[in-house]
Amino acid sequence: MRLVILGGGESGVGTAILGKKKGYDVFLSDFGKIKNNYKEILALHKLAWEEETHTEELILNADVVMKSPGIPDKSPIVKKLKEKGIPVISEIEFAEQFNDKETIGITGSNGKTTTTLLTHHLLKQGGLNVGLAGNIGKSFAWQVAEDKVEGYVLELSSFQLDGINDYRPHIAVITNISPDHLDRYEYQYDLYIAAKFRITMNQTKEDYLVYDADDEAINNWLAHNKTKATLIPFSLSGNNKNGVYVKDDTIVSKITKNEFTMPITELSLEGKHNVKNAMAAIAVAQLKNIRKKTIIESLSNFQGVEHRLEKVLKIQGVEYVNDSKATNTNSAYFALDSMNTPTVWIVGGVDKGNDYNELMQLVREKVKAIVCLGVDNQKIIHAFGNVVDVVTETTSMTEAVKMASRLAEKGDTVLLSPACASFDLFESYEDRGKQFKAAVQNL
Ligand code: ADP
Repeated sequence: MRLVILGGGESGVGTAILGKKKGYDVFLSDFGKIKNNYKEILALHKLAWEEETHTEELILNADVVMKSPGIPDKSPIVKKLKEKGIPVISEIEFAEQFNDKETIGITGSNGKTTTTLLTHHLLKQGGLNVGLAGNIGKSFAWQVAEDKVEGYVLELSSFQLDGINDYRPHIAVITNISPDHLDRYEYQYDLYIAAKFRITMNQTKEDYLVYDADDEAINNWLAHNKTKATLIPFSLSGNNKNGVYVKDDTIVSKITKNEFTMPITELSLEGKHNVKNAMAAIAVAQLKNIRKKTIIESLSNFQGVEHRLEKVLKIQGVEYVNDSKATNTNSAYFALDSMNTPTVWIVGGVDKGNDYNELMQLVREKVKAIVCLGVDNQKIIHAFGNVVDVVTETTSMTEAVKMASRLAEKGDTVLLSPACASFDLFESYEDRGKQFKAAVQNL
């Protein structure tokens, strides 16, 4: 059997290792450059590969193709493979055939990484030896090849879910759904929603679907479609009896006979969105029978995740917060919502079709000044120019941080929460966040 892998990143290299171990004739092809550390690993495992080209004779003879989630379906090589009827699957689908351990799959538009890390942390603290994989850390395929853990917590993007046929998580989590990546879904929101719900398509009644019951898109889908999984809703209001909810500033879970309660103030992560992420993780931990005490301790000692509402420094009474990972309006919404002080907001970058009206109310309430940090800031200036007294712009992070520090007074917060992708001025959201932190440290 010939396994061809498109994309020589983490998932591609992991799949190559697993494929070889399982006796496939493996070939890896990357249209761009492969990083040196991955080339070394490929050499170590005596795997055949090419870069900066796709040689069709070596690809179109595949029995099965694993495509990295970053490669769109409309790329010419994928189109050719599909025309020839060669199955094109994701790393998750490929690796799952050889995995006999239970997986927990976590998807959603925002909060995937945070919820995945929280869940992994809760299960580990509860004594379960679970691996962390998917869009995060060491690839799932590679870990399946090594077979060292007793289960996996997987962060799954819609692109990875597009490439599954049989993958079936024992527990699926959908953190929320809001428009994102629509360029890959023919600009149809319904197609993107359907991609997210693929996570539950193979589930049976022994499986669980944990989901945000406050989310309109999710509720809508559930009202019109079927899943066999047992539904476990979570909600910020106190009206769902068979799931997790908030009552009087306390998280209540009634999933097992043992009712679980925890005051919100004891959570280490701040913000309403993190209450939701914590509720999702609690649901999973309860389904896995983790002790109440362990869940509470783990949620109160969880160290936040870099670039997600990360507190950087307090300088002259001004708090600097790095939320560079907020690449859409929904995540910026929750960042602004969690602000308890007047805020100088650094925003902008590559707009993915944002509707800034969604943020209007919060901006009115919380934002005293805006620093636009993008190549084209017209849309932001147009949206908020009449709402906020001061709106400035720059294309340099150092300058943006300096401007913000001049605009902020003791007791204020400077928040980088761009609501946009980073590629106009930065390599990635990580690069943007790191530059922000460096600029703050240099103030
Ligand atoms: P993802 O992996 O889905 O991109 P992250 O956990 O990395 O999600 O968070 C991305 C951004 O979204 C951050 O700015 C974070 O503050 C915000 N965020 C986190 N959880 C949620 C949530 N449940 N709802 C909305 N926004 C969230």
